[in-house]
Amino acid sequence: MSKPTKTELKKYQTILVQQLASLRGDVGSMRDEALRASDQDASVDHLADQGTDNYDQGFMLGLIENEEETIKLIEEALDRIDGNGDWDYGVCPMCQEESESPKAQKKAAKAAKPVKTDVWIPKARLEYLPWARYCVRHQESEERNREIA
Ligand SMILES: [Zn+2]
Repeated sequence: MSKPTKTELKKYQTILVQQLASLRGDVGSMRDEALRASDQDASVDHLADQGTDNYDQGFMLGLIENEEETIKLIEEALDRIDGNGDWDYGVCPMCQEESESPKAQKKAAKAAKPVKTDVWIPKARLEYLPWARYCVRHQESEERNREIA
């Protein structure tokens, strides 16, 4: 794995910008719909209908929340591409942390030839998920941590 080239960065950036625009549009129209549904609640007398509306609204709000999470990830990724992020675009910060840990440093010092630590997220993953923050291994451990928390 290696650092993404300028051309690749440009490509990811284009995808990210497009995704961001379409997600923002989605969230906007979903929000409108959810609001409309809540307006209707006030005038609906049938409990059954009300139940459905509440369910739809909850479902919609869940979707909005998910999409807002993705929008945040995309914005962060675009900042990283611009060099304004918390770390370099395409780097898995957890791999970087591991490679800089005292244990890894010691191992590198002991090795006869320099150990090239790989902190780059595989390109196949970025192609599929250009806003990925972590490599697959760390993404999974991150999600496990979140489930416990
Ligand atoms: Zn990693």
